[in-house]
Amino acid sequence: MRQLLDEAAQGAYGVGAFNVNNMEQIQAIMEAARETKSPAIVQASRGARSYSQDRFLYHLMLAATELYPEIPTVLHLDHGNSVETCKSAIAMGFTSVMMDGSLMPDGKTPSTFEYNARATREVVETAHSKGITVEGEIGCLGGIEDGHGAGLDALSHLTDPDQAVEFVRQTGVDALAIAIGTSHGAYKFTKKPTGETLKMDRLLEIHRRLPNTHLVMHGSSSVPKELQDIINQYGGKLKPTWGVPIEEIQLGIKNGVRKINVDTDNRLAMTGAIRKVFWEKPEEFDPRSYLKPARDAMKKVVAQRMTQFGQAGHAGDYAPISLEEMAKRYQQHLTA
Ligand SMILES: [Zn+2]
Repeated sequence: MRQLLDEAAQGAYGVGAFNVNNMEQIQAIMEAARETKSPAIVQASRGARSYSQDRFLYHLMLAATELYPEIPTVLHLDHGNSVETCKSAIAMGFTSVMMDGSLMPDGKTPSTFEYNARATREVVETAHSKGITVEGEIGCLGGIEDGHGAGLDALSHLTDPDQAVEFVRQTGVDALAIAIGTSHGAYKFTKKPTGETLKMDRLLEIHRRLPNTHLVMHGSSSVPKELQDIINQYGGKLKPTWGVPIEEIQLGIKNGVRKINVDTDNRLAMTGAIRKVFWEKPEEFDPRSYLKPARDAMKKVVAQRMTQFGQAGHAGDYAPISLEEMAKRYQQHLTA
């Protein structure tokens, strides 16, 4: 992932990181990447790993790299809750891991700076020796996803720019997730966010202080009204909600954001498509009759995000560097 983010910085674009639990979601991302000629970050949370017994998901991801050889593809662990979780992902073959030490290993309790820096540093040492990328997090996001998160108000633990600088210096992370008022899940904002609720000024300040660190926006689904409407039109009961507007993400991309995490939008798209089939064709019972439209709906959202983030057209810009070569580069950088 380090190479992919370095390339994105060079080209001044962002790269969407899309969560997966199953085959259809992986297929949707890879088809969207092929259609838009985009590099791809496929990510799995701890919840996804346990849902899929780990190995199923890993082999589906391997299938993706076999079937789409022209797409530079990252297999990323989202929100690793402990050094052990990150090490298990590295052992299995993930090419990038997130060590989220902003929370304790229970995935719920906000941690101390010292704990976070120490745990993240340990993961960086193991990962970089194998050429694997590490994302860290400083500050805490709002909400809960896949059982992960403190369920905090999104504004209560914003990233402190001084701490961000110190954290990067102490840990050597490749990418840094920051808390600027976003939350995991569908209910991010109760109205269209303003500068009071989505702190883009904080992001700009962190980028000014850390111009060479790849920033990551979590909880960055846009939760479009069209997708909410389809669910509610076919019997769903979503309450009105707002996500992160695309133009704010694009402002972030102009200011150091290289990885944008999107999950909720894809969940909404798939669920809406499935509800529509159930509503319109109650006689159907072949899972393919609804999983295929669900996959198509997710592919459409992913392709749209890839275009909006600017990664479209960049799949062929570079040949992936091997992990061995990356390990050498990290070694040289550390001893230089
Ligand atoms: Zn996240």
